[in-house]
Amino acid sequence: MEQATFHDFHISAEILQALTGLGYETPTKVQTEVIPLALQNQDLLVKSQTGSGKTAAYAIPICELIEWEENKPQCLVLTPTRELAAQVKEDFTNIGRFKRIKAASVYGKQPFNKQKLELKQKTHVVVGTPGRVLDHIEKGTLSLEKLKYLIIDEADEMFNMGFIDQVEDIIRNLPVERMTAVFSATFPEDVKKLAEQYMKEPVEIEMEAQQITANKIEHSMIGVKEEGKFDLLKDLTIVENPDSCIIFCRTQERVDDLMDSLDRLGYPVDKIHGGMYQEDRFDVMDDFKRGVFRYLAATDVAARGIDIEAVSLVIQYDIPMEKESYVHRIGRTGRAGRTGRAVTFMTPAEKRYFADIEQYIGYKIPIQKAPSKEEIEKRRADFQEKINAQPELKEDKSAKLNENIMKLYFNGGKKKKIRAVDFVGTIAKIDGVTADDIGIITIQENSSYVEILNGKGPIVLQEMKHTTVKGKQLKVHKAR
Ligand code: AMP
Repeated sequence: MEQATFHDFHISAEILQALTGLGYETPTKVQTEVIPLALQNQDLLVKSQTGSGKTAAYAIPICELIEWEENKPQCLVLTPTRELAAQVKEDFTNIGRFKRIKAASVYGKQPFNKQKLELKQKTHVVVGTPGRVLDHIEKGTLSLEKLKYLIIDEADEMFNMGFIDQVEDIIRNLPVERMTAVFSATFPEDVKKLAEQYMKEPVEIEMEAQQITANKIEHSMIGVKEEGKFDLLKDLTIVENPDSCIIFCRTQERVDDLMDSLDRLGYPVDKIHGGMYQEDRFDVMDDFKRGVFRYLAATDVAARGIDIEAVSLVIQYDIPMEKESYVHRIGRTGRAGRTGRAVTFMTPAEKRYFADIEQYIGYKIPIQKAPSKEEIEKRRADFQEKINAQPELKEDKSAKLNENIMKLYFNGGKKKKIRAVDFVGTIAKIDGVTADDIGIITIQENSSYVEILNGKGPIVLQEMKHTTVKGKQLKVHKAR
């Protein structure tokens, strides 16, 4: 059979253009199964791992189905973590770029009022963590009247984290006439119950986890005493000399300590855990994705859903507390067709948990010997060279998509009674520019942002310096 292409789904040219820009040439397996059904508004229960392209599997059909003219949210996506919420929002923005889909993310530890203002504007898709979404619903700042699509992403994790009551509270507030799709790496009882209770004859789609865990990722474990772990880590990193490596620890404290120890040895290292400020967490993840540093010490907050290209090595410094975490942690490597390595440290006391993990993944994890002295010495020079080298920064996958887009800042907004149509009316009159060249418009109290597409940014910027909007001459410059 010929391989499917995105054209086969009969989606609009605007979405196809964005997919091309993102470098998505052929649909992944989960996309091939999910997209046609989702386009028919079919309820779906999908068992799939992160890394399988599942975000786009729902974002593509939803961007297609959304009615641009409607100002109130039509789609709600619930995610267990703030990082995942931010990433899903970005995926919607990228895929919906040329259709001018407006996505907003809401999560805790960020100013409520700022989110409230954003939700007041035209918003097609809202992505959020359950607590903050419920908060907005209860305060009446998130309109649900026009909601037609509900996505619950990483459902099993959501319930592991104790969000089930909040998720149910949210669902009870939604219109009954809607499509619901649940994505989960596993289908525990909670997930099945939720499906029975709130979904309409969902079609079940299962992607084999095995394929991901066994084929693309080489697993192994090394036996070690607790007090020998740090030396083993040093030896292993010298021998493996990874370009990009995540080291998972059990607690925030252990992450702090490990990062300090590696830092003292000159490793390009940073850390992420739930005890850090949200902004810092985002900054760290961004820098790690761009390759600013190569070693990330992390708790399980980094284990779920986060999409980092080309993590070549995952080290489980401490074994995971739950067997499910094993799959998620090692799923940070071997993504998007790449191969990866996952090495787990196992103390004698932890041996008994291992049988459980192996049974769960249905695969025996081979035991590896600790690196030998000769190996270490042989590789030491290469390792040192890489440690001392300036990192080569990676290009963000949306960079190509965005290269022809310029975001302009204007120093006037709602207070000056300026609306989006005023910008469209003015800008589309400029010679050589049409309404199709205008992307997302965001109007705030005292400022506005307008995206100009198709490389027309410089012309618009030049012209708007001496063109009024609704009779007012605004200051304009390229937004940050
Ligand atoms: P996800 O499973 O949603 O976390 O996606 C995993 C990675 O695959 C992300 O970096 C996506 O940008 C990428 N991706 C998704 N769909 C495709 C596709 N059809 N072709 C190439 N890459 C894709």
